[in-house]
Amino acid sequence: MTDIEHVTVLGTGVLGSQIAFQTAYSGFEVAAYDISDEILEKARARFAELAGIYEQEVPGAAGGKAQQALTRISYFSDLEKAVADADLVIEAIPEVLTLKQQTYEKLAAVAPEKTIFATNSSTLLPSDLKDFTGRPERFLALHFANRVWQFNTGEVMGTADTDPAVFDTVLAFAGEIGMVPIPVRKEKAGYVLNSLLVPLLNAAAVLAEGGYAEPADVDKVWKIATGAPIGPFQIYDVIGLETPYNILSHSEDPKDHELAAWLKETYIDKGKLGMASGEGFYSYPKN
Ligand code: NAD
Repeated sequence: MTDIEHVTVLGTGVLGSQIAFQTAYSGFEVAAYDISDEILEKARARFAELAGIYEQEVPGAAGGKAQQALTRISYFSDLEKAVADADLVIEAIPEVLTLKQQTYEKLAAVAPEKTIFATNSSTLLPSDLKDFTGRPERFLALHFANRVWQFNTGEVMGTADTDPAVFDTVLAFAGEIGMVPIPVRKEKAGYVLNSLLVPLLNAAAVLAEGGYAEPADVDKVWKIATGAPIGPFQIYDVIGLETPYNILSHSEDPKDHELAAWLKETYIDKGKLGMASGEGFYSYPKN
C-alpha cells in the first residue's frame, strides 16, 4: 500500500476523465480540476458516460460499483482548492509545452510540499517540465493509454532528479488503480508503447501509400505471422486517423509529410476518421 489517498487530476478531457474515473473506481477520492465551470459540467456528463461504459465492459462494474465511483469525484475550477489535500497530482492538460510549463509554475506555488506531480504527456519528456515544478525530485511521468480500463498499462518514467522512492510509490500506485505498472528506467521519448507503435504504424503506411500491399493484406500478414490479434491498420482505426496525421505532419522527415498527405486525402477528407466515425480503413456499421 502506498501513502497516496487523495488524487487530483488536472484536465478532464479524453484522458483526464478516464484517469480520474479509473482512480475513483479503484476507491480513491479524486478532485477533478479544469479551467471553467462550463467545462466541468461537460466533465460531469463524461464521467456519467464512463460509468455506463464500465457497466457494459468491465466485469463487476454493474450493480453499483461504477455508480459509486461517481460519488468519489469532486469538481474544482480553483487550482489551489483542487490540490489543497493532494498526495498526487496527475496532469492531463493539452499537449502544449508552454501551457504545461505555465501550469506547473502555478501548481508549484499552491500545492503542499508533500504532493507528487505526474505528467501523462505522450510526446514531451519529463525533463522538459521538471524545472517548472519547483520539486524535480517529486516529479515524473505516469503515462496511460486511451481506454484505460481496457488498455491498462501505466508507464512510469522519471528524470535523473526523480527520487527513487517517489518512482516506486507511483509505480505501486499505478498497480493500485488497476494498471499494469511498467517502469521505464531511463527517459525515452515515446516510452515503451509509442517507441514500438509509431514505427510499426509508419511502416504499414509506407506499404499501403507506396502501393506495395493493400491495408487488409498488411494486417493479415502481421496477424498470421506474429499471432497479434489485430493489425496496424486496425490499430489506426482504433486510435483515430487524426492523431497519427498530426504526428506525421509535424515530423521533420519529408517522407512523413507524404504519408500525412495520403492519410488526409484518401481517408480523413472523406470523413473516414476511424472506428469512432463508423469508417476508417475498415467499415464499422452501426446496428
Ligand atoms: P483533451 O484536449 O481531450 O483534454 C485536455 C483538457 O485539459 C481539457 O478538458 C481542457 O479544458 C483542459 N485544460 C486546458 N488547459 C488547462 C489548464 N491550464 N489546466 C487544467 N486543464 C486545462 O486532451 P487529451 O487527449 O486528454 O490529452 C491530455 C494529455 O494526455 C496530453 O498530454 C496527451 O499527450 C496525453 N495523452 C493522451 C492520449 C490520448 O489518446 N488522447 C493518450 C495518452 C496520453
